[in-house]
Amino acid sequence: SREWHLVARPHGWPKEEDFALREVPVSEPAQGHVLVRNLHFSVDPYMRGRMNDVKSYTPPFQLDRPMEGGAVGEIVASAAEGFAVGDHVLHNLGWREYAEVPAGQAVKVDAALAPLSAYLGVLGMTGLTAYAGLFETASFKEGDAVFVSGAAGAVGGQVGQMARIKGASRVIGSAGSDDKVKFLIEEYGFDAAFNYRNGPVAEQLQQAAPDGIDVYFDNVGGEHLEAAISSLKPHGRATLCGMIAQYNNTEPTPGPTNLPMIIGKRLRLEGVLVTDHYGLQPRFVQDVAGWLASGELKHHETVVEGIENGYKAFVGLLRGENTGKMVVSLSH
Ligand code: NDP
Repeated sequence: SREWHLVARPHGWPKEEDFALREVPVSEPAQGHVLVRNLHFSVDPYMRGRMNDVKSYTPPFQLDRPMEGGAVGEIVASAAEGFAVGDHVLHNLGWREYAEVPAGQAVKVDAALAPLSAYLGVLGMTGLTAYAGLFETASFKEGDAVFVSGAAGAVGGQVGQMARIKGASRVIGSAGSDDKVKFLIEEYGFDAAFNYRNGPVAEQLQQAAPDGIDVYFDNVGGEHLEAAISSLKPHGRATLCGMIAQYNNTEPTPGPTNLPMIIGKRLRLEGVLVTDHYGLQPRFVQDVAGWLASGELKHHETVVEGIENGYKAFVGLLRGENTGKMVVSLSH
């Protein structure tokens, strides 16, 4: 069985030499564990943070140990009550072909209800992040004008569509290519979108939302956050979800220069961590399953085939090669 190890801590952009795909033996599961053949695993921006040896909300990956992350697979051997060979489970031991998972860390998922990879995205962690960050953290309400950055990504694409479904007055997105901009308008039903590489974000946002915005959902940070602070209306709210523009920076990133506006406009900027919001899971699954069934909500995946392409998928995600959720599928 093959698995990806972190072998050196990246400085700046990750390099291929920082990772190694290693062969390891597969053994029978210990008592209380299940052996899972992974079918799909997730690559996510937060993993870049876990590659640094710094204290954060998730512990750093250990060197010369398999990396971790969301995965779905099929049980091939079980030494745990309530789990049978053939069951499909969601767990956190991704980046490997076979995973020995303690039963308490495996959640059964139903392949008949949704394609298994959906439990990593639209019905999983990134979908819940969008749902919690928009409806709880940003206190979204009908009639709000919403701007989301990283809009063609896994979280951002769901944020914009959920806002539309719940009666936003205007949904605006930014993304890194003209094709993504077209996709946001034509596939996801955004009212306006722009390519942040085509000009200053503040100017493009001002044009897309001349009357201002009530809610900003930040996946990017930096110039995007500064522009949003300028465009937010009095009492506007921002959810700070991610700052991917700076994850590979080697120097401290300067903050927005317009912070005094937060006072004058009485803005609220609040961070979100999806791990605080698992209590929303039943309502989230019910809402999203309903919207998917009715066709109101669309989701997209960029699938990279083969465990040997795990590193490429991860770096591709940081570079914006994905539209929707980036997933690595293992065809075995
Ligand atoms: P995405 O699917 O959005 O993939 C990342 C995207 O970021 C890329 O596709 C790329 O798209 C964009 N990007 C990369 N570099 C830049 C840059 N310099 N400026 C602007 N955009 C950039 O990933 P996720 O949906 O999984 O995650 C989105 C954000 O949410 C991340 O910041 C992540 O860390 C955060 N997150 C936070 C969680 C929480 O609990 N707080 C949970 C899950 C995610 P493009 O082509 O548009 O540049």
